[in-house]
Amino acid sequence: MKFIAPVTKNEELTATIIDLTYEGMGVAKVADYPLFIEDALPSEEVKLVVTKVGKNYGYARVLERLTDSPDRVELPNKAYMQSGIAPLGHLSYAAQLKFKQQQLRNVFQKNHLAIEVLPTIGMADPKGYRNKAQIPVRQVNGQLETGFYRKRSHQLIPLEDFYIQDPEIDRAIVIVRDLLRQYHVPAYDEARNRGIMRNIMVRRGHFSHEMMIVLITRTKEIPQLQNIISGIVTKLPRVVSIMQSVVPKPTNVVLGRTVKKLYGKTYIHDEILGHTFDVSALSFYQVNPLQTEKLYQTAIDAAHLTGKETVIDAYSGIGTISLSLAKHAKYVYGVEVTEAAVADAKRNAKHNGIHNVKFQLGLAEKVMQEWRDDGLEADVLVVDPPRKGLASTFVEAVGVMKPKRIVYVSCNPATLGRDIALLQEFGYHAEKTQPVDMFPLTQHIESVTALTLN
Ligand code: SAH
Repeated sequence: MKFIAPVTKNEELTATIIDLTYEGMGVAKVADYPLFIEDALPSEEVKLVVTKVGKNYGYARVLERLTDSPDRVELPNKAYMQSGIAPLGHLSYAAQLKFKQQQLRNVFQKNHLAIEVLPTIGMADPKGYRNKAQIPVRQVNGQLETGFYRKRSHQLIPLEDFYIQDPEIDRAIVIVRDLLRQYHVPAYDEARNRGIMRNIMVRRGHFSHEMMIVLITRTKEIPQLQNIISGIVTKLPRVVSIMQSVVPKPTNVVLGRTVKKLYGKTYIHDEILGHTFDVSALSFYQVNPLQTEKLYQTAIDAAHLTGKETVIDAYSGIGTISLSLAKHAKYVYGVEVTEAAVADAKRNAKHNGIHNVKFQLGLAEKVMQEWRDDGLEADVLVVDPPRKGLASTFVEAVGVMKPKRIVYVSCNPATLGRDIALLQEFGYHAEKTQPVDMFPLTQHIESVTALTLN
């Protein structure tokens, strides 16, 4: 039987928004057929035009909003919604925090998990929080521009105020952009894989105020490089490191596998919970400094350490969680796959005078099995995996090692739900989850869950 959707492309209709997807799109239904709509909030009545009709769902665009949700707020610039910068920027902050709590509840329900979700820990001011930016550089209307892509496109919208980034980072990007213009460095041309400057990455230590600039280029050569470097250093005296990463091929990956030093140090310095950290260009570092302290404190509390425990910190990055836990534990083993991050972690342990930690380079799922085979017995396991969650081989090794307690720091509810369901089969049980808003104004959801062995 041929499927016939109840709407056709370009059809205009009036509908009420009934839900918000995990990506922050409004949902309206026509005879049970869902339409996804940008910039539309639950309870709003909207006049729509259907833009795309698929087999199971379609997309529509708002022509006119007939009523406003009480949770709607105005953003200072429409570009923040049109790009990936602030996809939840039209929702009041209080409603964003509730939305994230509800998303976790939905995932747990789907996985038949009876876990209480606590109210999301938010920020007093949910703007200007990001300590890192990766900004595309393109030629727009005959001029080199920095900005942000329109959603689901590579069309650059020029921007100077990125709203969720540390304003000092925004200022740095404009200064670098102006130097690139002054010295006629060609912007990258994606369609023809020509030009030079692809992206500018900036990191700023929230506490140290040290800055790193990474120039990401298609070619090794950068014209007028010395002038550009001295321009950056003169105009931005807090820049302690300028690096280059060469990405010759067409790809969506921003940073290459290697970086080269152009000026100063290869890392910046920062602080978390009283410890100091070196962060190099290729290492992962939490992007929201104020919320990171709350996240880590939540994880430390959830670990219930007395000083006698052996702890594994899997996906340990530059060792931030490991070092925060070390003074409450007997010994901490970290495992991490990025070489630069492990080097940072080792140096960070030394600089902080922490000796009861060891960092191992490797895949968490492999090293965990090796540790299990070596008879390592951990009392507490902390995991903080990337969005794809834990590998099933990792979970199996956990099932054999049987740490009494697991603290799961997650940046993706979908894989968290899946992994908790798997861990349940090995006898683990979770009572509650604490969301911490690490990414205000965006749809991303971070949370901490403690699991105990029954
Ligand atoms: N806990 C750290 C890092 C968390 S981000 C912090 O809070 O800063 C996740 C980290 O896992 C990244 O550093 C990434 O390089 C690393 N990673 C990704 N896949 C991995 C794997 N299979 N094994 C080990 N580490 C991995």
